Amino acid sequence: MPLTGIEIFKLLPKTNCGECGVPTCLAFAMQLASGKAELSKCPHVSEESKEKLAEASAPPILPVTIGTGEGAVKIGGETVLFRHEKRFENPPGIAILIKDTMDDAEVNKRLEKCKSMQYERVGLNLHPELVAVKSESGDPAKFESVVSKVKQGSDCAIILMSENPDVLAAGLKSAADRKPLLYAATKDNLDKVTALAKESSCPVAVKASSLDELAELSGKLSEAGIKNIVLDSGARTTRKAFEDQVIIRNAALTKKFRPFGFPTITIPAEMTDDPMKEGMLASIFVSKYGGLIVLSDFYGESLFPLLVERMNIFTDPQRPLATKEGIYTIGAPKETSPVLITTNFSLTYFLISGYLETSRVPSWLLVKDTEGLSVLTAWAAGKFSADIIAPFVKKSGIEEKINHRKIIIPGYAAVESGGLEEELSGWEILIGPREGAHIPAYVKSWAP
Ligand code: SF4
Repeated sequence: MPLTGIEIFKLLPKTNCGECGVPTCLAFAMQLASGKAELSKCPHVSEESKEKLAEASAPPILPVTIGTGEGAVKIGGETVLFRHEKRFENPPGIAILIKDTMDDAEVNKRLEKCKSMQYERVGLNLHPELVAVKSESGDPAKFESVVSKVKQGSDCAIILMSENPDVLAAGLKSAADRKPLLYAATKDNLDKVTALAKESSCPVAVKASSLDELAELSGKLSEAGIKNIVLDSGARTTRKAFEDQVIIRNAALTKKFRPFGFPTITIPAEMTDDPMKEGMLASIFVSKYGGLIVLSDFYGESLFPLLVERMNIFTDPQRPLATKEGIYTIGAPKETSPVLITTNFSLTYFLISGYLETSRVPSWLLVKDTEGLSVLTAWAAGKFSADIIAPFVKKSGIEEKINHRKIIIPGYAAVESGGLEEELSGWEILIGPREGAHIPAYVKSWAP
């Protein structure tokens, strides 16, 4: 059971030094109890207390890391049922399935997809992270050979899929140093797979045929000292699989039911043969509440929207994606090129810069820090008004780069033009279009 604020307080140094960012140990204890602070913020807590407090400060869904180095994938660590309550912490890892019965050409094709299917959006690189190697042959040697190929051909984190402990052991011979996820421990192989997980220090997934059985098996793994556990309720119909995800998350968060306090693995690849339906199922599990999502193959038309959905859901709703304040060049602008200004909401920046690139008119784009707000919202919040824009323009250094004094402001901030003419003496304020899509036509008629 988690400790109360007072119980936590008793274990803290009680010096009220304030180094944790709050003025007293009691206030820090209360924050720790409500999951709003991390124990590591107090540098003075003793090792003995640390151990006791670990449970209190651990998130109700424990984090699990699969893989090593840059290819490591962290899942779980969740603390809320709904994103708007705080934020979701770790996006689900997306895996492509490779079976050991596939020929070399197919295996290579899939590994190549893992490398090449990467997408740039709002300054982020979106890509899948895992390869799930499944034993269909039941032959340990064959499995080991395919796992070895995957390990050499990809930096992705690896899931080893077999319910035969001998096959899993063969996979580990090739890839134990990459700390793959062992999938899966079941009621029939629990002892052997537990031994493999302990020996190799690899995370292990537990697969059951019902939620009751899942709780029982997960509890046994915990009792055996395994900390990195991933849950599979075994459901393979849309309704049951969805219900199980919700029940598991709910039980862990609202009932503090420890056997369900781990991330889950979902396998749309085993739920349908229809690629579009599979994409739809994956989309459900991105929202609720898959920790891992294994797909039978990657198709650009379903993978890209899935990655975008994941990015949107797993960004912090209290911290909009923002671009750095400064002067950005579109093409190779000259002294005579147009100057535009916008806010630093990432989507706004990438849309405007995209439209300017389409116009093929080299331009200067000034980006004002508005704490990640879009033009209209920033203007309404008083963060994109004449008295804020003008000092930024003067300090930005744009005046040294151009031989004219004209600036194009967004149509939605047109009301600031009068104030800007007063604040930016010598400048001509031009009102640009309201819609970004009209920017290319607007700048094509630019004359300094
Ligand atoms: S840093 Fe530790 S000792 Fe200092 S006030 Fe915070 S909890 Fe107390």
